[in-house]
Amino acid sequence: MPTTQLSSTLHSADAEVLVIHCSDHRFQAGFYEFLNRHLSLEENYDLLVLPGGPQCLTLVEYMPKFSWAGWKWFRFLVDAHDLKRLILIQHQDCGWYKELPFHLHSSTDPRKRQEEDLRRARAALAKERPELMLELYYAGWDAGQHITIDTVSG
Ligand SMILES: [Zn+2]
Repeated sequence: MPTTQLSSTLHSADAEVLVIHCSDHRFQAGFYEFLNRHLSLEENYDLLVLPGGPQCLTLVEYMPKFSWAGWKWFRFLVDAHDLKRLILIQHQDCGWYKELPFHLHSSTDPRKRQEEDLRRARAALAKERPELMLELYYAGWDAGQHITIDTVSG
């Protein structure tokens, strides 16, 4: 089998950050740029990429097996790598949310539903891992189709 040698080299420094974001291909370059250029993570973070991203940490009642898996992966990475900081990113026009029943959220507005889930995840994480630094973001795009990232607070 032929071997392909890349210019990338193995990161040997310990990671301190876990990032959870959606699989949607339209945002991958934007997520990468935001994490590495704007947050200066220099590719030194663990990454969980799955449909709906951080929503997997809020599915306890609706899809308990998905929630179980999300928390299992989260706990594994945080414990195995002694991570200190968690970054959760939701994004505009997320296809995963189009499949979710509306009764799960207090609003039918897509962005409000996603921000509600980020706050639910924040509340759950405050009990489960209060020592973790948590950052919440929402990605979208502007009129020129440039990716934009808003900080989600509250
Ligand atoms: Zn998505």
